[in-house]
Amino acid sequence: MKKIAVIGGGIIGMTLVNYLDSKQFEVLLYDSGKNQATGASAGIISPWLSKRRNKQWYALARDGAAFYEQLVSDFSLTNEIYEKCGTLFVRDQVALDQLEQLAIERKEKAPEIGQIRLLNPKETSEILPILRPTPSLYISGGARLDGKAYLNHLRKRALGRGVRIISDEVKVQKAGNGWEINRAEEKVVVDKVVLAPGPKLKDLLEPLGYSTAVEPQKGQLISFSTDLNTNNWPVAFLDGEADLIPFNKGEILLGATHENEAKWDLRPTKKAFEKLTQGVDRYLNNNSLTDFPYSFRVGTRAYTPDFAPFFGPLKDEVGLIVASGLGSSGLTTGPYIAFLLSEFLNGKVDEWEMSNYEKDFDHYITVI
Ligand SMILES: Cc1cc2nc3c(=O)[nH]c(=O)nc-3n(C[C@H](O)[C@H](O)[C@H](O)COP(=O)(O)OP(=O)(O)OC[C@H]3O[C@@H](n4cnc5c(N)ncnc54)[C@H](O)[C@@H]3O)c2cc1C
Repeated sequence: MKKIAVIGGGIIGMTLVNYLDSKQFEVLLYDSGKNQATGASAGIISPWLSKRRNKQWYALARDGAAFYEQLVSDFSLTNEIYEKCGTLFVRDQVALDQLEQLAIERKEKAPEIGQIRLLNPKETSEILPILRPTPSLYISGGARLDGKAYLNHLRKRALGRGVRIISDEVKVQKAGNGWEINRAEEKVVVDKVVLAPGPKLKDLLEPLGYSTAVEPQKGQLISFSTDLNTNNWPVAFLDGEADLIPFNKGEILLGATHENEAKWDLRPTKKAFEKLTQGVDRYLNNNSLTDFPYSFRVGTRAYTPDFAPFFGPLKDEVGLIVASGLGSSGLTTGPYIAFLLSEFLNGKVDEWEMSNYEKDFDHYITVI
């Protein structure tokens, strides 16, 4: 049996170990948990009306959102973890009309968008009662994922499949035809290694002779514990950085920030609180969120110069696979990326051919 080590237990690593063929591989998952993005996030899965022009990113995000149907069934995800709650877009009427057209066009290749409806101000506040009456566009296919709950659920499944999970930071170096995984307590040699460490990819690749363009970006979310009946509320994209993500049992998340300069800093800031709450205040009815108790969730995303992820085997290296740069849409693309990697590693596909989804690795990784 071959040994495989996965470095990083975020959405990519944790999903991947659950898809790797346990008859072929003895699987080890190393995760330090430091600066993790997945556990801090509580995310919107609704990529279809993005105005980003990167076609490969859009194809990946669209197919990633569609893949959730299989994911829910493969891993028995409950509504507490993932729920199709619908998405509301709040804009002025001209922008809403344009978004409706875009939704109709994109639905041809993405039936997951579901129903598309322009709502009048009264209908908007009926569907999301915390909002002031305002026009909006509703699509029924939007969903939300609780990153932390997802990881907890998959961790249990992985342990049940015999995956060895080690909560520690490791380094990697070449060892003959394999790879040596080093931590203070032990050294293990494996046949294959998958690096899915978010922005820490730079630190792991440098000793192997590669540099990468991945950088850390701080993201802060505020979680309000309200006494509102939030059941069946959709997520809402408001103008600006502040989006609303209501969960059941009264929890409402507001966020997230995108702070490139803050790099690895995980401290919650007053500035972020003010920016996010002031950004959302003008959309809210009398229930101001700041009257409720709150806490912060802070994580570090990995981003690349073109904000697109890259993933797959490194040319000229046997058994070295990387996946990083998932940016702001990693909950949407992460599980599908992990599944594609598992199909390759499990030997279900012979060739790694991902030109529909990503640029050549030369854009992101160079030999030092
Ligand atoms: C506040 C916030 C809100 C977000 N909202 C959304 C959203 O609405 N929709 C969406 O699609 N996406 C969203 N995202 C983005 C998404 O969460 C990330 O893109 C995705 O979770 C990244 O997953 P990952 O597995 O690549 O990395 P991570 O989740 O960061 O996991 C990497 C893991 O590797 C570990 N690690 C690193 N180096 C080592 C080492 N040497 N040894 C051992 N372990 C190591 C880290 O500690 C970490 O646990 C959000 C992110 C944040 C922070």
